[in-house]
Amino acid sequence: MARKAKPVEDQAHYPEQSVMAVGMAGRCPRCGEGRLYKSLLRPVDRCAICGLDMSFAEEGDGPAVLVILLLGGVVAGLALAFETLFHPPVWLHVVIWLPVTFALSIYFLRAMKGIMIASQYKTKAAEGQLDHSDS
Ligand SMILES: [Zn+2]
Repeated sequence: MARKAKPVEDQAHYPEQSVMAVGMAGRCPRCGEGRLYKSLLRPVDRCAICGLDMSFAEEGDGPAVLVILLLGGVVAGLALAFETLFHPPVWLHVVIWLPVTFALSIYFLRAMKGIMIASQYKTKAAEGQLDHSDS
């Protein structure tokens, strides 16, 4: 049975969620229960459990840069170690490292995006805006 969304804008009604836990699990940063993604890498518009509007989520290129730098180094190191130890043919490298890289990239992109969205929610981070109230 699916629970109905009950939009509650007050953050105090929900226990504080761990940024790392909800981010890695791909869960809503406010309630920790609703799914964060509606497809492989696309966040939902609104949490199905608590109704949190996810329009604040703007993670930009941050997760992709982190995944490229970290995972690229790890996979390249593993491929070099594999080559040094076993001297496999090139086709075996392709068969092993392409799916490994793709699967790990998707996993870490989802985790990094989730962590960034959760930290944006927790810190109320948003794009800077000029205050024109004094002029
Ligand atoms: Zn939620």
